[in-house]
Amino acid sequence: MKLQKNLFPELPDTKPLVIAGPCSAETEEQVMTTATALSQLGVPIFRAGIWKPRTKPGSFEGVGSKGLRWLQQVQQHTGMKTAIEVATPQHVEAALKHNVDLLWIGARSSTNPFAVQEIANALKGHDVPVLVKNPMTPDLELWIGSVERMANAGVQRLGIVHRGFSTYHQKLYRSQPHWRIVEELRRLVPDLFLCCDPSHMGGSRELIAPLSQQAMDMNFDGLMIETHCCPDEALSDKQQQITPERLSQILHALVVRNIKDGGLSILRSRIDEVDGHLLELLSRRMEISREIGMYKKEHHVAILQTLRYKELMQRMLERGELLKLDSTFVNAFVQLIHEESYREQMKIMKETKK
Ligand code: PEP
Ligand code: MN
Repeated sequence: MKLQKNLFPELPDTKPLVIAGPCSAETEEQVMTTATALSQLGVPIFRAGIWKPRTKPGSFEGVGSKGLRWLQQVQQHTGMKTAIEVATPQHVEAALKHNVDLLWIGARSSTNPFAVQEIANALKGHDVPVLVKNPMTPDLELWIGSVERMANAGVQRLGIVHRGFSTYHQKLYRSQPHWRIVEELRRLVPDLFLCCDPSHMGGSRELIAPLSQQAMDMNFDGLMIETHCCPDEALSDKQQQITPERLSQILHALVVRNIKDGGLSILRSRIDEVDGHLLELLSRRMEISREIGMYKKEHHVAILQTLRYKELMQRMLERGELLKLDSTFVNAFVQLIHEESYREQMKIMKETKK
């Protein structure tokens, strides 16, 4: 694959390259107001969904092609470049006809090789940069497959967007980040432009700043952040959209290090990711404990079951040994979570006695 990491050589070489704009183009006024505010901040690329892949029918599915004319106005009035999601060859054709500067393939499409190949065929012979979002599932081969289909169609300015993976037990994040998969992708396909989408990853306004910083620490090249002039009134993804003012604060607070010690940041991010999983697992365990507490209460069973605890400890020590964990550590850890479980169940008992 012959790739060019710099998507727009004519733009100043700043890091991160920011792509911002609403989840969906809704009205001409919303598009122009948001784009004007963003261009005043110096954001070079304006994003907006024109055709929206929604989980359920009946939700707002985008304004369709008429939004493309609003994006041309953004180019004319602000000088910004524009970016949209394309999911079909017809979308590609319409986007190219309206001179959209950057196309991205959404997470749902990049899960589907038929769709990706059709988009790739429509792109043949056109020199437009393309970003491939990660598929919904954490499948590196599938993601690389979508990237390869683009490269085989002749796309040279090619990048990826990490927007997190869908999981059944969603707790902290709307879509679980998996930085290690990106590291592997970076190793296998070195010249890709790496972009992070903290909006769909976090799913909430509060998580955009920490996830953006994490992406910078992982040496990503760009950020795609959903920004809306009135986020509370947005027709899609309102809980994760921020105002241009908030975007400006977040960007100013970002620390972009000259990553020479990339190795350490990457290892730390991996530890942070595992710690996050640990907390989520502990929270799930406590939920089940509380259910057990309710069951014991209803069936008049004593909370402390000494035999059960002994068996559980024994099994955990055996498993720990197989996983090469120190037995004193496993013992202390199991005891700690067991005590917390006991405390939770006691709370339930007390509540019921009222
Ligand atoms: C989007 O960027 O608006 C979008 C729909 O993203 P994703 O494909 O990551 O869900
Ligand atoms: Mn969105």
